[in-house]
Amino acid sequence: MSAKTIGIIGGGQLGRMLAMAAARLNFRTVVLEPQADCPAAQVANAQIVAAYDDAEALAELARLSDVVTYEFENVPVSAAAMLAQSVPVYPPPRALEVSQDRLVEKSFIRDCAIPTADFAAVDSQADLEAALDRFGGVGVLKTRRLGYDGKGQRLFRSPAESREGAFEALGGVPLILESLVPFEREISIIAARDANGTIACYDPAENVHRNGILHTSTLPARIGEATADQARRAARAILDSLSYVGVIGVEFFVLPDGGLVANEIAPRVHNSGHWTEAACIVSQFEQHIRAVSGHPLGDPRRHSDCVMQNLIGDDIDDVPAWLETPDVLVHLYGKTEARPGRKMGHVTRLTG
Ligand code: AMP
Repeated sequence: MSAKTIGIIGGGQLGRMLAMAAARLNFRTVVLEPQADCPAAQVANAQIVAAYDDAEALAELARLSDVVTYEFENVPVSAAAMLAQSVPVYPPPRALEVSQDRLVEKSFIRDCAIPTADFAAVDSQADLEAALDRFGGVGVLKTRRLGYDGKGQRLFRSPAESREGAFEALGGVPLILESLVPFEREISIIAARDANGTIACYDPAENVHRNGILHTSTLPARIGEATADQARRAARAILDSLSYVGVIGVEFFVLPDGGLVANEIAPRVHNSGHWTEAACIVSQFEQHIRAVSGHPLGDPRRHSDCVMQNLIGDDIDDVPAWLETPDVLVHLYGKTEARPGRKMGHVTRLTG
């Protein structure tokens, strides 16, 4: 029997869009999120206003839900594990462990026989010097945990660049140095796996970032069939290896020869998959709800070319114009204050 109530940890726009997709299939949703009246709670049936690791709140969420999922990868693994004792938690908590730490993540991806940048753990300035020397004096230094949208990173573009104090400058926390990938473009693939092991892949999207934040996702991506196939095979390997249930996003760099280098995985619906709500019959949000609730996966085929653009901060002022533009689906997140860098909504324009 399929689930009746779906618990969602996290109350942002991804949780909001999951709750909307769930409602269309007659599911009820309960959101666990410390911020009252969050984007997801505005459209869900109920909200538990508490911290993600509040034991009482987690017990309440488990009691109310037939299955629990999450909308962000920094859900405490201990909270997911606690819930999993009394209610199915999808995607599996192991996916959280892997994606919360860039070092674990890169090692995991490599173990799936998928190419990654070279990488080295950096726990001191001496580690950094040694790793930079190994990578020819260039690389990207990142915090292992809690980095997002390009935050907590330092780029070493040339061997001449000063390295002094670089370890401490990122907070003295565990870091990873990655070799610099000479990529031509960035793509991502959104894929889903159900509990029977059936997998469905959407077409890869070509992504452009601005100030470290996703700006546009364009379909089709300017890649050949062999590259698209490599992306699908990588997604399959990752999903199977994790015995995954739900939607995943995998980001890649495309090399000049068309080869792919995996950058990161997101064990959830992903910003670069928002286009699916306009250009596919079954969106990534419905696909995720289908997977975690025990329904069969939907058809991921794309019926249109399109461009998804994020509305960041003041971009929200452009909404009246977007509403007058033909072939555009406008989706807003219910956030009242438009701070710089804050994702307020997105638009998807069908282009063919
Ligand atoms: P991330 O936080 O890992 O998604 O990185 C943010 C952005 O920094 C990526 O979208 C790339 O544009 C760039 N970047 C990250 N890692 C590398 C790398 N190893 N080589 C080249 N560019 C990178």
